[in-house]
Amino acid sequence: MFLSKKIRTIEPYVPGEQPRPGSMIKLNTNENPYPPSKAVKGAILAELENLRLYPEINAERFIQSVAEIEGLRPENVFAGNGSDEVLSFCFPAFFDEKRHVRFPALSYSFYPSFAQFFSIPYSTAPMKGEDGLDIDVEALLSGGGVVLANPNAPSGRALPLATVRSMAETLLARGEVLVVDEAYYAFGGESARPLIEEFPNLLVVRTLSKDHSLAGLRVGYALGDAGLIEGLRRAKDSFNSYPLDCLAIAAAKAAIEDLEYAKACAERIVATRDWFYAEAMKRGFIGQNSKTNFLFLRHGKKQGAWLFEELKKRRILVRRFGRPEIEDYLRISIGTREQMEELLRALDEILNEGGKVL
Ligand code: PMP
Repeated sequence: MFLSKKIRTIEPYVPGEQPRPGSMIKLNTNENPYPPSKAVKGAILAELENLRLYPEINAERFIQSVAEIEGLRPENVFAGNGSDEVLSFCFPAFFDEKRHVRFPALSYSFYPSFAQFFSIPYSTAPMKGEDGLDIDVEALLSGGGVVLANPNAPSGRALPLATVRSMAETLLARGEVLVVDEAYYAFGGESARPLIEEFPNLLVVRTLSKDHSLAGLRVGYALGDAGLIEGLRRAKDSFNSYPLDCLAIAAAKAAIEDLEYAKACAERIVATRDWFYAEAMKRGFIGQNSKTNFLFLRHGKKQGAWLFEELKKRRILVRRFGRPEIEDYLRISIGTREQMEELLRALDEILNEGGKVL
């Protein structure tokens, strides 16, 4: 009875389960199975003595490193508490009652929650393709600004750079913003970073949660024209001046500078993914290989809900979404080779048992 109408009626995003560390093989939230760069620990320890002070207002040390790596200026970089927070600030910064936002019907399910939370009118573009998992670019561009996950989740499919370019062009002509969420680009996507100088309406959002193995640190960043970055800073400074604490700033800087390590981890994950995909196909799974650190597959003969539960009984956690159009799909994060071998052993056991036939 004390809650506002908005909070009573909003549909909050539902994150994947976080069981006690080590209690399960956790393949449900697309975390990186490898530890972060060794440089992270030292950076955090060295920063402890600064905890007495408030952190830098715009995570300047981290932003400076990102700018140098990307060949941009610090005015072109924004940092937030996970890319979730960076994405959330995009809604009040770039959209309003008159500038609606649009995203694909099947994409990161936080986008509609953000739109509702910030009272931004939004609409979704229907998917297309044989299995209904492809983005319909034309439908997406039918009005309003756009938030696009590229590669997309949960499909794991990526649009080529040329398509993103033409989307940015169309939206620029209409005076609207294109936000490209590149959470998974390091596992096979093409980044829209090279388009930034040309398109002042294009914002690229990244995270350290996936290829930098730092989901627990909560750091994400955005690259774009200084005008867009200023908009994000205005949103942030109206809400929380210090979303990144000093330990996160120091650790994120150390991680992002260890380019070689992140690249090597991503390569290992891609190799494991490609091997696992072939193995899954041999066992009757259906679906495309992905450009991400997860696969989105269904079994040709068995129900998704049953497979999910059987895996859980064997202490293997994958992700399944309740939406009817994808209810038989499992989203499987790519773990270490050993974890994926264990998943295959469990699947062999389960599939031989029979179970619910489609
Ligand atoms: N975008 C997409 C498409 C994601 O799947 C995720 C991870 N759940 C995020 C953004 C957010 O990642 P983080 O807040 O950890 O940076």
